[in-house]
Amino acid sequence: MEEKLIYLDNNATTAVAPEVLEAMLPFLSRQYGNPSSMHRFGGMVRHSIDTARQQVADLLGCTPQEIIFTSCGSESDSMAIVGFSKTHKGRTRIVSSSVEHPAVRNLCASLKSEGHETMEIGVDPKGLLRMEMLDHVPMDQDTLLSFMWANNETGVIFPVEELAKTAHAKGALFHTDAVQAVGKIPMNLAKTEIDLLSLSGHKIHAPKGVGALYIKKGTRISPFLVGGHQEHGMRAGTENVASIVGLGKACELAKTHIESENTTVKKLRDRLEAGLLATCEGAHRNGDASLRLPNTTNVSFEFIEGEGILLLLDEKNIAASSGSACTSGSLEPSHVMMAMGVPYTLAHSSTRFSLSRYTTDSDVDAVLAIMPAIVSRLRKLSPYVK
Ligand code: PLP
Repeated sequence: MEEKLIYLDNNATTAVAPEVLEAMLPFLSRQYGNPSSMHRFGGMVRHSIDTARQQVADLLGCTPQEIIFTSCGSESDSMAIVGFSKTHKGRTRIVSSSVEHPAVRNLCASLKSEGHETMEIGVDPKGLLRMEMLDHVPMDQDTLLSFMWANNETGVIFPVEELAKTAHAKGALFHTDAVQAVGKIPMNLAKTEIDLLSLSGHKIHAPKGVGALYIKKGTRISPFLVGGHQEHGMRAGTENVASIVGLGKACELAKTHIESENTTVKKLRDRLEAGLLATCEGAHRNGDASLRLPNTTNVSFEFIEGEGILLLLDEKNIAASSGSACTSGSLEPSHVMMAMGVPYTLAHSSTRFSLSRYTTDSDVDAVLAIMPAIVSRLRKLSPYVK
């Protein structure tokens, strides 16, 4: 009999929804036309891309003309930020947070090395943005604010609508990396001042290799990939039709599931978190309790290593994630935990459980049944505990 796998790493990637796969299959077989072709093969495919664009727009609360398809969330982030920098002749200023995903953080570092100015706003111990720091940031038309909507490690949500207003009041533009927020938080972009928003297909039950960038009507950025006329001349390259169709379907499904994400999934997450905090000695939640995605919990366990937890969970067919990044053999706590000021003894054991609409009560039961034993076993091995 096939062993049951418990997948609680949905902020890393998600399973492709069966409905998404079904919607994509014709475009991997008989519907192989190039959407730019004049004949019927092209026409049929073009129509499906239009439908997908509408489905994405419906989830975000914007018009389809404001959606550009890309290859992933990272490309959308780059398109927004580099596209902004390229529209300006001289030096631009990019303001972001200290807890951004590497897709934004490393990009900013690269832009800095090319002579652009970059600034980071810090977070408090709960992972909430230190809004007061923004008062001291110079802003003008050469400034782009880029703040994630929700953090991938803690799920903590930033006040992006307020940040967009602050940017506009001072003549700047506003981009948000909403890769983790889309499909989990209701959005109505037409009612906000957000200029640019990035999303990724594989975080919302579409396949890997597809994403989108929302560009508010009237916002000017330079194309990132130059060549053909595809995507209103904003992103050259023959469209990844099957994946775009999949992303559209995933957005349609996300819209229908968004309420249960905030009720059923949240209830499961809360039960998991409360159980871990109650039964595992030395357990602490990382991140604000309420201003958070409904599917994410991040918990640290004093004096033990996150990697040990993950390996022992994996032995029990349970997939979760650690905040640490293992770089060339050295285990550094994640930049998010460090920015929050989580002590080293806790930051090293930061463990993220991220749920989805496919998570069940018995998945949560299984984690709660095994975690106290894993924590006490690893703690006995810890050199820090006598
Ligand atoms: N931004 C955030 C907040 C993410 O969590 C991720 C992926 O984990 C990305 C960007 C990058 O998305 P992609 O893997 O589609 O490039």
